[in-house]
Amino acid sequence: MMRTFERNIRKVEPYVPGEQPQNKVIKLNTNENPYPPCPGVTKALEELDTDRLRLYPDPTCAPLVNALADFYHVNPEQVFVGVGSDDVLSMCFLTFFNSQKPVLFPDITYSFYKVWAELYRIPYECQKLDEDFRIVKEDYYRENGGVIFPNPNAPTAIYEELDVVEEIVRKNQDVIVIVDEAYIDFAGRSALELIDRYDNLVVVQTFSKARSMAGMRIGYAIGSPLLIKYLNDAKYSFNSYTMNQAALVCGVESVRDREYFEEGIRKIIETREWAKGRFAELGFQCLDSSANFIFAAHPAYDAKELFEALKENGIYVRYWGSERIEQYLRITIGTREEMEVLFRFLENYMGRNRS
Ligand code: PMP
Repeated sequence: MMRTFERNIRKVEPYVPGEQPQNKVIKLNTNENPYPPCPGVTKALEELDTDRLRLYPDPTCAPLVNALADFYHVNPEQVFVGVGSDDVLSMCFLTFFNSQKPVLFPDITYSFYKVWAELYRIPYECQKLDEDFRIVKEDYYRENGGVIFPNPNAPTAIYEELDVVEEIVRKNQDVIVIVDEAYIDFAGRSALELIDRYDNLVVVQTFSKARSMAGMRIGYAIGSPLLIKYLNDAKYSFNSYTMNQAALVCGVESVRDREYFEEGIRKIIETREWAKGRFAELGFQCLDSSANFIFAAHPAYDAKELFEALKENGIYVRYWGSERIEQYLRITIGTREEMEVLFRFLENYMGRNRS
């Protein structure tokens, strides 16, 4: 029986994050980076001034905002930082999607969008990806309360060229368009190139993937000074001190080391391209990945059974079993050695369970 007070409680069906097993496994389930953060981050943590922890951190996050502004050649007034891009995206939903009209996003995409829309009571409509799991840009050329999509999309890993992104932004100048670029560093041109031409565009990125800092929780949005001001107003009305002192210091160190950042991306792309070939040899059908993960299905093996067999053998990948993607697994690109263990397992599995 429902207690009377329960009627007034805000209820949500929460986002379900990938598992974080505490034992040692080959962890290819949450798109983390298999390499450590840059040496400057380790050093900054070793040398962290703990006396500074008595004080609240800088609510404006100025050092990190300035470092990002320098890196991306934008004005510091165009940069907003938060506790991972989940926090930044959630603030964007709260701030920018405040209309009676539905917000549009793809049917197969980052499943958190639906959760924020429901949490904040924002109407939304999902637009179907085509049969090749591509975004159909024309579906976004109609009355709406805002648009959001990841590029590359998740979990498909498919990157849409910048002209497609620009068309969607250009056709929606009366609403805010958010491009979630969590995986852009492994892909192609960023929508940041458009930022000074479209004042309705917000680009969101993260330190969790290419910068190997998922555990530090840093994300950021870049947009016009006006939009960033609105985001900060919402943030200060919610929690002024989102970024802790260690995250601020480590974030700056990471942004400083461009060489390490670029080398890490290069290694992951190299492993990804080699892995695509190995998957194909084993008969998998992979969508063409431009991210640090591969979305793959095998015509002869059931994805759920394979997911469970992998897990039993200490190899974690992600499986949803939802409509249209019930036969797909999402596999994060690990180190070359981790991927070799995965492929050895798959070869044995297929040998034992001949189709
Ligand atoms: N956007 C997309 C598309 C993602 O896949 C993720 C990672 N789960 C995020 C945003 C959030 O990442 P984080 O909060 O770690 O920055």
